Amino acid sequence: MKYVINNTKICCLNLENIKERIIITLKKYIKEICELPDGVDLVGVAPVERFDQLPEDKRPGNILPGTKSVIVLGSQVFKVLTDKLTAQNEVGKVSCQDIYQAHNETVTNDLKQTGYRIARHLTNQGYPCINLGQDLTDYRTISSIFYFKYAAVAAGLGKIGKNGLLLTPAYGPRVKLSAVLTEAPLEEDPLIKEDLCKGCSICIDACPSGALKEPEENQQVNYDRFVCFSFLTNNNGCSLCMSKCPVGK
Ligand code: SF4
Ligand code: SF4
Repeated sequence: MKYVINNTKICCLNLENIKERIIITLKKYIKEICELPDGVDLVGVAPVERFDQLPEDKRPGNILPGTKSVIVLGSQVFKVLTDKLTAQNEVGKVSCQDIYQAHNETVTNDLKQTGYRIARHLTNQGYPCINLGQDLTDYRTISSIFYFKYAAVAAGLGKIGKNGLLLTPAYGPRVKLSAVLTEAPLEEDPLIKEDLCKGCSICIDACPSGALKEPEENQQVNYDRFVCFSFLTNNNGCSLCMSKCPVGK
């Protein structure tokens, strides 16, 4: 094969090999940033095709049309804090909701910074990117303009539990997420196949509002977000379905 670069003929150059090496190098760089002492706890890559089953307005291409890969970052929310969470109506128990919310903000900001560094590097390498933090909720419908949990599953970080949250093997549902959409065709990570709930129903039993129920046949999650949201609003927080989950403890 012959290719012309800067008016010079390069013979027998295997362009596919070069592309492959660049893709491997980029993925290695991303992992390195994430593994730094000030990096993040979890990282995975999903090819954009893994989002094809979503409605069109929720696919990555709706935000960055040339998206080829979605990089998903995750970091733990400290268990020592989530263990202290209670529904505010549990008389006699102290709730740490305010400290928990402040901690969440710190974790989310940290993820956004790392996402930005990755996005900046890839952009400088010629691959346009958009980095997204996990705070893109449209409160008219109580839904995100980008499905972070779906993206995390697609990137091999975990599975959706009966509580409707992302369960990661290492930290259970106690994680925050951010994502980078990129035009770089990065090496994908394998999906997690294992059922992490394994017959458990602790979150359903712990739910004080009745918003969570045992999933029916062909249902992954049986969750009424409006019942939950109304309970959260009236009780200044809850999160028992997250704090009581035994996965990752
Ligand atoms: S579903 Fe809502 S109300 Fe039920 S435990 Fe979870 S946060 Fe609390
Ligand atoms: S508490 Fe049990 S059933 Fe609920 S999400 Fe966690 S593992 Fe699954």
